[in-house]
Amino acid sequence: MTQIYNFSSGPAMLPVEVLRRAEQELCNWNGLGTSVMEISHRSKEFIQVAEEAEKDLRDLLKIPDNYKVLFCQGGARAQFAAVPMNLLGAAKTADYIDGGYWAHSAIQEAQKYCTPNVIDAKTQVDGKRALLPMREWALSNDAAYVHFCPNETIDGLAIDEQPDFGDKVVVADLSSTILSRPLDISRYGVIYAGAQKNIGPAGLTLVIVRDDLLGNAQQALPSVLNYKTLAENDSMYNTPPTFAWYLSGLVFKWLKERGGISEMDKTNQAKADLLYGVIDRSDFYRNDVAVSNRSRMNVPFQLADAALDKLFLEESFAAGLHALKGHRVVGGMRASIYNAMPLEGVKTLTDFMVDFERRHG
Ligand code: PMP
Repeated sequence: MTQIYNFSSGPAMLPVEVLRRAEQELCNWNGLGTSVMEISHRSKEFIQVAEEAEKDLRDLLKIPDNYKVLFCQGGARAQFAAVPMNLLGAAKTADYIDGGYWAHSAIQEAQKYCTPNVIDAKTQVDGKRALLPMREWALSNDAAYVHFCPNETIDGLAIDEQPDFGDKVVVADLSSTILSRPLDISRYGVIYAGAQKNIGPAGLTLVIVRDDLLGNAQQALPSVLNYKTLAENDSMYNTPPTFAWYLSGLVFKWLKERGGISEMDKTNQAKADLLYGVIDRSDFYRNDVAVSNRSRMNVPFQLADAALDKLFLEESFAAGLHALKGHRVVGGMRASIYNAMPLEGVKTLTDFMVDFERRHG
């Protein structure tokens, strides 16, 4: 059978070793004679799973003790509402950096709760799409926080700079980049991420929040989105997505066994270099993002002749390279190459691209 490589942007590929382990213990987890899905989230067995997952995540990301880790539901989009409702306090505004589709979606949701100060960071460098560097963000003085999205999953745009805004509260949507590179958590007030790319299956959303930001929630905030309520109840105020939590825990162990984030960082760089290298060396393929803002996780590319898109997708699929179709708002192709995608997968893709160009260029 052809080896399949899945370039889906999310729900995305999971490490095969993790899937095999889950398969092996699916019907008889931990010798209990049932699956982990069928036991109480309050049982001592599940609490151990939950605690271990948190500990492993804290080790991987070096999360300081004055941060809570919350295992929530509702996806990153629920956080688009939860962030303003938890953090605004008496403030009427928050700074929002508009760098792409997801940052913009967060702004639209925030408009229900405040009047965001929108900073349009979209710009051009040498005719390519780029984002303003952080020093050029015109932040306001009365904002409760500054929100940005370091990796735009659809646009393939990334902000790799680490924020350095003194005592301003920085909030980041890391849905498509968490765990892919080292991160200095202490520079952030809140980090959130939907699980279905670099963490585990859909259904789980991670929130990492600094202690002093708990307790400012608006009265109308649903309790299931209230960071303080979730923290006080160890993320079990309501029934958590236990299977997604368990599987994410296995992914964290997989990451640790492979040398953690610094090793992932190196492999992710090698994968991105390989793919962008093939795109840049050819007139047949094109990526329209400036080098300084290129995403290492989501690589959109266009064929010079869009009439060949359909054939490219058919042939790549037949070669075991799945889910390369670009997002409907952008078109063309997109290869999402999160942690679980091995270097061999990207090598197989680039070999295919070179061969396709030779045959159709
Ligand atoms: N933010 C980013 C950066 C994303 O990539 C996505 C999903 N692709 C979302 C937010 C929305 O996430 P969810 O569907 O989990 O609400």
